[in-house]
Amino acid sequence: MGRIIGIDLGTTNSCVAIVETSGGGKIEARVLPNSEGSRTTPSVVAVSKNGERLVGQSARRQAVTNPKNTVAASKRLIGRKFADPQVREAATRVAYTIVAAPNGDAWVQVGDRALSPAEISAQVLMKMRETAEAVLGEEVTEAIVTVPAYFDDAQRQATKDAGKIAGLDVKRIINEPTAAALAYGLDREGSERVVVYDLGGGTFDVTVLEITSGVFHVKATSGDTNLGGEDFDDRLVRQLAAEYEGAQGSGGIDLRKDPMALQRLREAAERAKHELSSCLETEVNLPFIGLGKSGEPLHLVRSVTRAEFEQLTADLVERTLGPCRDALAQAHLAPADVQNVVLVGGMTRMPAVQRAVKSFFGREPHRGVNPDEVVAIGAALQGAALGGGDEFTALLLDVTPLSLGVETGGGVFTALIPRNTTVPCEKTEIFTTSVDNQPFVPIHILQGERPMAVDNRSLGRFELTGLPPAPRGVPMIQVTFKIDENGVVAVDARDLGTGRVQAIRVKPASGLTSEEVEVRVAEAENNRKADEERRAYAELRSQAESLLHTTEQALEGYAELVSASDLERARAAATKLRVTLEATTAAAPLRAAYQELEAVNFALADALYGGIGT
Ligand code: ADP
Ligand code: MG
Repeated sequence: MGRIIGIDLGTTNSCVAIVETSGGGKIEARVLPNSEGSRTTPSVVAVSKNGERLVGQSARRQAVTNPKNTVAASKRLIGRKFADPQVREAATRVAYTIVAAPNGDAWVQVGDRALSPAEISAQVLMKMRETAEAVLGEEVTEAIVTVPAYFDDAQRQATKDAGKIAGLDVKRIINEPTAAALAYGLDREGSERVVVYDLGGGTFDVTVLEITSGVFHVKATSGDTNLGGEDFDDRLVRQLAAEYEGAQGSGGIDLRKDPMALQRLREAAERAKHELSSCLETEVNLPFIGLGKSGEPLHLVRSVTRAEFEQLTADLVERTLGPCRDALAQAHLAPADVQNVVLVGGMTRMPAVQRAVKSFFGREPHRGVNPDEVVAIGAALQGAALGGGDEFTALLLDVTPLSLGVETGGGVFTALIPRNTTVPCEKTEIFTTSVDNQPFVPIHILQGERPMAVDNRSLGRFELTGLPPAPRGVPMIQVTFKIDENGVVAVDARDLGTGRVQAIRVKPASGLTSEEVEVRVAEAENNRKADEERRAYAELRSQAESLLHTTEQALEGYAELVSASDLERARAAATKLRVTLEATTAAAPLRAAYQELEAVNFALADALYGGIGT
């Protein structure tokens, strides 16, 4: 088995890590930097105006000039329905178009194609895979991918699909807070309660975990899906834009109305925020941000202190404490009952956030591991445990986040596997008919905590057909529900009367069918090839340009030193390459013309130097 990488597929940023065994046999996790040298990669995918696919920083940078075809935060949509309130909410905040897929899923319109969020996430995962491959110098095909603790089956399944499309066999999906606790080795200290406080770029999650002999129980989750680092940036943007608008000579212009200026302002605000996490003062410096009344260029230069930034954002920090209270209440705990607090998410680098958490829980939170890398590190540790079979292999068990059950009489939801059951698990139940001679039994599988079926998440419907005529209540159909170690649900059924395993039809209520996933996998692979070819072609063109340039120079300089026929041949080959370069976009003829000129050049060089030294 190859190496299993750990990937934190974040809403805003993603991160990839591996585990290495050092010389002394010590196990160490390492975050892998991407090709731009960054340890985290923006989870942004775009198709540029000329059809090029961009992922990460390059996609994020061009977002403002190409908003319709730039998809950020696809994690908010993954495994969700178009009609889902969360999706409706997200639709009001993004510039790209969210569409309804034929099966009711939320998809995204990019250019002339509707793409599933899994395909978008796959692009990010592919970039993380390539990052790992570049650093390790070997092919990577296996990964652990993390998801929020509250993700339901459809969201987990869609995340697995994304991995598959990216050419990764996702060995396990684990919860982000579980990964963070793992990174701090909190599974090895007997029994304890851990609060994971995760403030990221656009979301806030708080999770109460109970860890008993290596088994992670999610006791409670809470949070705010619309609270994160961007809100902090926005406060500073607003402040600076308002001052600029009011300043003498600016002509009362609102910079936020100019997309390019706004983009620069946002980037500068975020940078200032980062600096203020370690410094007490920083400067925002944006030359040529706008034009004055008489067309003169205007600059924005402004120093910002940590105290001022904290004041601008104090209410945002305060807002995270409500969900903390809520999560503790759900778990029937007081702050003092919590043994460990773990900080996750880039925003927890902000000192004011750390202070607020410390004072709320009355204890020093775990730091030490970078909060925007800690989830990927935990995932990598889990990967190493699965792959290497070292001492903590058996420890990493998770629990179901939601109850699994079926719809019974009157639209009532009957839970079969309650939430917080340790996975993998399995439950068998006998079903029967409710009227005489009923030829089939409908079984509606759902996930959730609400008493009525309609309020829960529908995973699929069984129709067990072909039952022999019998009075109601007599047929016995044994249905087995399974949740695997990733929290993914599988169901199968058998008619005990006939002893046969019935041919049952499962209509996937959401997500991609396995055929659709296969198509996407092939497509992604083709795209990858096409990208590589494009890169190779661009390189060939530039090599050709430079060969032409040096040849033309050489022909001018050394014309009298070589024979007329050699000269003629070189000129002809150069002209041919020039023409090919201009006339075609195909690689093969260009390569042939290039090689021809190269050969002629070598012959010329031979003629020039041939006599020397022999
Ligand atoms: P997510 O989990 O949402 O994908 P991250 O955990 O990477 O994202 O958090 C991203 C957020 O953290 C961004 O808003 C970013 O500006 C913020 N952040 C990163 N580094 C710092 C820092 N040094 N100080 C304050 N905020 C930071
Ligand atoms: Mg995160």
